[in-house]
Amino acid sequence: MKASQFLISTLKEAPADAEVVSHQLMMRAGMVKKLGAGIYTWMPMGLRVVRKIEAIVREEMNRAGAVELLMPVVQPAEFWQETGRWSKMGPELMRVKDRHERDFIIQPTSEEVVTDVARQELRSYKQLPKNLYHIQTKFRDERRPRFGVMRSREFIMKDAYSFDRDAASSKASYQAMARAYRAIFDRFGLRYRAVAADSGAIGGDLSEEFQVIAATGEDAVVYCPESEYAANMEKAEARAPAGPRPAPAQRMEKTPTPGKSTCPDVAQFLGIPLQRTVKSLVLATDGVDDNGRPPGTQVWLLLLRGDHDMNEIKVGKVPGLDAGFRFATNAEIVDRFGTPPGYLGPIGTRKPVRVVADREVAVMADWVCGANAEGYHLTGVNWGRDLPEPDAVADLRNVVEGDPSPDGEGRLVIERGIEVGHVFYLGTKYSAPMEASFLDENGKPQLMEMGCYGIGITRLPAAAIEQNNDARGIIWPDAIAPFTVVVCPIGMDRSAEVRAAAEKLHDELAAAGVDVMLDDRGERPGAMFADWELIGVPHRVVISDRGLKEGQLEYQHRRDAAATKVPAGEVMAFLR
Ligand code: ATP
Ligand code: MG
Ligand code: MG
Ligand code: MG
Repeated sequence: MKASQFLISTLKEAPADAEVVSHQLMMRAGMVKKLGAGIYTWMPMGLRVVRKIEAIVREEMNRAGAVELLMPVVQPAEFWQETGRWSKMGPELMRVKDRHERDFIIQPTSEEVVTDVARQELRSYKQLPKNLYHIQTKFRDERRPRFGVMRSREFIMKDAYSFDRDAASSKASYQAMARAYRAIFDRFGLRYRAVAADSGAIGGDLSEEFQVIAATGEDAVVYCPESEYAANMEKAEARAPAGPRPAPAQRMEKTPTPGKSTCPDVAQFLGIPLQRTVKSLVLATDGVDDNGRPPGTQVWLLLLRGDHDMNEIKVGKVPGLDAGFRFATNAEIVDRFGTPPGYLGPIGTRKPVRVVADREVAVMADWVCGANAEGYHLTGVNWGRDLPEPDAVADLRNVVEGDPSPDGEGRLVIERGIEVGHVFYLGTKYSAPMEASFLDENGKPQLMEMGCYGIGITRLPAAAIEQNNDARGIIWPDAIAPFTVVVCPIGMDRSAEVRAAAEKLHDELAAAGVDVMLDDRGERPGAMFADWELIGVPHRVVISDRGLKEGQLEYQHRRDAAATKVPAGEVMAFLR
C-alpha cells in the first residue's frame, strides 16, 4: 500500500469529549470519525485493525467447529415477542417501525433469530451439536455511550450460539468455546483474564467474561495470583467476611402500601450516611439485564444524585464504589433495611423509578422494579472519587484487596478490566419459549440446550490501545496492527536511488505477504515519523541516501528507543 493512495487523516489535538487515552489516540490517528453520539465511521486505517481482529476470530471459531452465517440487523418484533424480550428489555433495545407500522428491532444480539433458524433446520439428534455464529453490526441504545468505540451504540460483535441435545453436551460446547476464546485472546497479544461471571438464574458456574486489564476499565476483576481463582466483582467471594458488617439500619415498622409509598428520609431508612450532595437514593431491582436474562432474586442498590425525572436518571458520584460495588441480594436488603416501601416481592416488569429531591423521596408503586438497566451499566462506572466513601455502602462490596481467596491459597488482588468477550450457558432459556426441539433416538421431541458467546470486535482496538500506548501514540501488537511495517524514504523526490530502494523493499515485503505501507507522500522526516508513531505501526524501516551509500537501512521497532542499522540485503530476514 502506498500512503499517497491511502487515506491518512491524523490530527494534532484530540476532541474535548475524548476522556480516555484510547479514544484520544483513535481520533488523533484517524482510526475512527464520530458521526453522532456513540456512532462512528471506521476510517480506512481503523478498519484494517477491525478486519484483522475479525480474521483471527473467524479462524479460531472455524477451528473450534463453529459455522458462520449472517443474520439480519433489522429483525421483526414477533421473534422478540415470542421470548418476551420485546417487553422485558428497556430502552437499550432500539425499536423501529416500517411504513406499514409494523414493529422491528435493530439487533443488540441474535438469540431469537438464531433459535428460529435452529428450530427450522435442526430436527434430528443426528444434526447436533451445532454452533452458529456471525460477525455483524449491533445496536444498543446505551444510556451513556462513551470512550468512543469502547461503549458505542452501533458496534460490531461476533456472536455465536451453540445447540446441543442435552445439558452435558451443551456444557462441553461451552467449554470448547471458552478454550477457543483463550486461543483468540492469546493471539491478540493483550494482557487479559478470563473471570467467572454471574450467569443469572440459569447457568450455574458457566459464565465467564474475558477482561482486558486496563486502569480505565469499567469492570473490576478479582483474582488470586497464587491460584486459579478469578471472578468479576459481582461474582467474587472471599473465604471469610472481609470485616465487621455495619450495625443494622433502622427497620421499617410495617410494610408500606404499594402505590402510596413515600419515605420521609431515605438516608435514615437505609441507614447510609448520605453526603450532602447525594440528593436521593434508590433501591432498584436486578433480575432482568439488557440481555433479557430472566427475573432473578437480586436487588440492586443504587445511589443517585442530582435531578431526576422519569426518563433521565443521572447517576451521581459516590466515591470508592468503582472497584467493588456489588448488588445486595433481596434477602440482604430486607434483612438490613426492612422491606422497602413499595416493595412488590418477586420482580416482574421494569418500570422507571421516579426520584424526588433531598429529604423526601417519592417512588412509584413498583419502584423496586426499576432502574435495572441503568444499574447494570452504571454501577462501577460512574461512581466518582471526589467524596469520602460511605462506610455502610462500602461494605456491600463482595471483597476487598487482601481478602483470603475462596480456594484458600493466598490473597485476592483487584484490577480493572474491559469486557471484550463473554461466554454464557443458556440452557433452554430461548429454546423453551420458541419451542426449538429436535427428535431424539426414540422419535421423542426434546428441547435444545443452548449457549451464547460474544466478542466485542470493535471494542477490542480501544482495549488494545489502553494497554499499548506511549506519549507519541499507539503501539499495535503485530497481530492486529493496521500495517506491520512502514517504509519511510527520506528525500524520495530528490533521490532516484532512495525511491528505487523504497519501492523495491515495499514490493518484496508485499510479495512475501507482509502488510507494508510505503510513505511516498513526500512529508518531511519529522512529520512522517510523528504520523506513524501516532498510528502505531510496530516496525519502521527508514531509507536514506546516506544509509544507502553505506549499504544500510535503519530499522526501529515502535518500542525501541533508537534505530538499528541493518544491511540492506538483510532487512527482509530482520523483519520476520
Ligand atoms: P457491557 O457490560 O460492557 O455493557 P455486555 O455485558 O452488555 O457489555 P454482552 O451482551 O456480553 O455485553 O456482549 C458481548 C460483548 O459485546 C461484550 O463482551 C463487549 O465486548 C461487547 N459490547 C457490549 N456492549 C458494547 C458497546 N456498547 N460497545 C462496544 N462493544 C460492546
Ligand atoms: Mg451492556
Ligand atoms: Mg457486561
Ligand atoms: Mg457481558
